[in-house]
Amino acid sequence: MRCPTCEERDTRVVDSRDLEDAATIRRRRECVSCGARFTTYERMEAARLVVVKRDGVRQEFDRDKLAAGIRKSLTRRPVPDGSADRAADAIEAILRAAGATEVGSSRIGELAMEQLRALDQIAYIRFASVYQSFEDLETLKREVDSLYAEREPAPALEAGRP
Ligand SMILES: [Zn+2]
Repeated sequence: MRCPTCEERDTRVVDSRDLEDAATIRRRRECVSCGARFTTYERMEAARLVVVKRDGVRQEFDRDKLAAGIRKSLTRRPVPDGSADRAADAIEAILRAAGATEVGSSRIGELAMEQLRALDQIAYIRFASVYQSFEDLETLKREVDSLYAEREPAPALEAGRP
């Protein structure tokens, strides 16, 4: 970024703010050499990921916050240390691979449920009951039933053991 007045390369950011589309950042810069001030509009590419909540509020994707939510669901569950962090990393990788700069919070919830479903079924139900807020007990029961249905092959394996 060169100063438009003296072409000095070294400039200082004096103010930075997001524009409405959230993928553009407006920066006020000041040249350290001549003191000239100018404005730049910078497109943020893959590095930027914005979460759109149900009420339309946008905020920067927060991987640590996601990991904390997953960790809470995994409280006292028999899973390896770092499981919540790995799940959050996997979700972030999926979102980044998709290449979008915006993602709905409900999509993140779905991905978190997928991760937890594979990790620990109790944690999955905990997370799902908070983030998906099962409409009623019937819905919750169907979800639990589907988990049991997936476990059907297990007894056959047990029976095959010496
Ligand atoms: Zn300058």
